[in-house]
Amino acid sequence: MRTLILAFALGASLIVPILLLLMFPPWWPIAIGVLALAHGLVLWPTLRPNSQWLGPVMTSFETDSNEVWLTIDDGPTDDTPALLDALDALGVKATFFVKGVLVEQRPDFVSAMLARGHSVENHSQTHPSGAFWCLPPSSVAWQIDQCSAALEMVGARSRLFRAPVGMKNPFVHPILTRRGITIVGWSVRGFDSFGDDVQRVVQRIVPRVRSGSIVVMHQGRGFSVACVTGVVRALQAKGYSFVVPVPERLKTKR
Ligand SMILES: [Zn+2]
Repeated sequence: MRTLILAFALGASLIVPILLLLMFPPWWPIAIGVLALAHGLVLWPTLRPNSQWLGPVMTSFETDSNEVWLTIDDGPTDDTPALLDALDALGVKATFFVKGVLVEQRPDFVSAMLARGHSVENHSQTHPSGAFWCLPPSSVAWQIDQCSAALEMVGARSRLFRAPVGMKNPFVHPILTRRGITIVGWSVRGFDSFGDDVQRVVQRIVPRVRSGSIVVMHQGRGFSVACVTGVVRALQAKGYSFVVPVPERLKTKR
């Protein structure tokens, strides 16, 4: 699919419009249309989180019981000790998708995550939210490798990668494949990086969760700990338990 899209995009965006304009100048609207379609075919799966067009993105996991996977992005931030205490009190293990620069600043926070039985994975070095989708291959590789190196310093190995704000471009999959890293999206998100209303986030997430769902939340906001606590309590009340699935259990469909 990825090869097809790229081949068409390249052909359509360069060759077809030029030929059309040279041979049939009055047909310029068609040339523009082809150009727009070619760009759209690349932009849509790039900017749309969890799109599978450019390669597999894991959005759920295999399970026979009421299990969900809590993933917490954008740390390690100052609320890490409080968050770890809250997760301990709730009896929950989670996966932290961390930024390499923050790992370098607070490796002790990451060591604490690992020591408490959570897993830690790659969420890029600097989290360039607005630019990741348009980075060239060398910069994509740098973002992934630097974060992997930061994680190695605390004894963790990157097996999974979550793209900043879920956006990826056509270079991301081949770079990850060469490194044996799987790209992970989510099944359910609560937009908890915005606002400060815990109940609203709980109401957004809980009704959408099924067994095998990957829930994405964030740390580092004033209400992050309360938010994670609220969501976990509500899901536990509905009979869900929390697991960190091995990568082999991850699936691309719900
Ligand atoms: Zn993020």
